[in-house]
Amino acid sequence: MDHAEHHATSSNRYKVYLGACFCGAIQFTVSGEPAVMGYCHCESCRRWSAGPVNAFTLWKPDAVKVTHGADSIGTFSKTPKSYRKWCKVCGGHLFTEHPGWGLTDVYAATIPDFPYQAGVHVNYQETRLRMADGLPKLKDVPEEMGGSGLGMAE
Ligand SMILES: [Zn+2]
Ligand SMILES: [Zn+2]
Repeated sequence: MDHAEHHATSSNRYKVYLGACFCGAIQFTVSGEPAVMGYCHCESCRRWSAGPVNAFTLWKPDAVKVTHGADSIGTFSKTPKSYRKWCKVCGGHLFTEHPGWGLTDVYAATIPDFPYQAGVHVNYQETRLRMADGLPKLKDVPEEMGGSGLGMAE
């Protein structure tokens, strides 16, 4: 598959977006469309990101390719559910692999040209920052991801 060619034709169906850590030592691409995008309010995301909420984009693992600086990627796994990837040079976060879901969470902030558009809020029962944007608010995660799938008020 020639990604550059698809990029040049501006086909939205198989576009390639560039991602990088804070210092640029690590560069990667995501291609195609994510399975889902939204905001996660869980404590793990808040503590790992040091922010009140995490803007996530979930991709099939083969849609994410490291193109530069793979040697500088650090991994932290608190539980087997998540392998958090970060840059050993700048400490910036990149993405988190979720093997159980077969998905990789690429933080929206690391792919600035990607047209991020949140569709759902997850783990809203843990929120520290309510966001009245009219999008669905899930108490935890969708049923197909092992959650209750229950909604809650903004
Ligand atoms: Zn870096
Ligand atoms: Zn989270």
